[in-house]
Amino acid sequence: MVVKGVSPVEGKPLELVDLPDPIPGTGEVRVKVSACGVCHTELDEIEGRLPPSRFPMILGHEIVGRVERLGPEVTKFKEGDRVGIAWINWACGECSFCLKGEENLCDKAKWTGKDVDGGYGQYTVVPQDFAYPVPERFSDVQGAPLLCAGVIGYRALRLTGMEDGKVLGLYGFGASAHIVIQIAKYKYPRCKVFVFSRPKQQEHQNLAQKLGADWTGATADTPPQLRH
Ligand SMILES: [Zn+2]
Ligand SMILES: [Zn+2]
Repeated sequence: MVVKGVSPVEGKPLELVDLPDPIPGTGEVRVKVSACGVCHTELDEIEGRLPPSRFPMILGHEIVGRVERLGPEVTKFKEGDRVGIAWINWACGECSFCLKGEENLCDKAKWTGKDVDGGYGQYTVVPQDFAYPVPERFSDVQGAPLLCAGVIGYRALRLTGMEDGKVLGLYGFGASAHIVIQIAKYKYPRCKVFVFSRPKQQEHQNLAQKLGADWTGATADTPPQLRH
């Protein structure tokens, strides 16, 4: 499914086309896509707030699939391995950010489905360093959203320095937060999680409660406790 230009999402902007199978280059693997999630960034790409660097483009960056063909010099994977592919598709490996393990800040980074074709296709190609093994405990469909919404939330949770027994506030309850609450409740069973969502988003608050939120409210509300 390709997008050929900027347009409103209501206009069914994705188009089914036949394309040649991509050929993996040196150090790259070709992945047969099993599942690819939808991220809000795709809507931004389609509607021009973050347009792809070329058209047509195959969007999609929450990819789970199986390695199906190896390019030259691939050492990390073999055919049949299940992998995930995320938003970051390539980074220079040489700049100060890359050398610190902060490739997400690399000025030259390429993004899946924005600068290179992504996951809304039968096949996609990715450098082996940016494909991640997916453990068997997840189904393809369960694994896909972890590749963007999941990693964003996990990273943010890690940066909080969270410890068991402390209070965690989630501001907004969309794709990322609904995963992070599950991680937090699993890793920190004695923590309290307070969830703020936009006023009138009762569905989000209901889901938060179902997933273990200790308090839910609107963004301007005062939670029962400000800190541990
Ligand atoms: Zn995303
Ligand atoms: Zn770099």
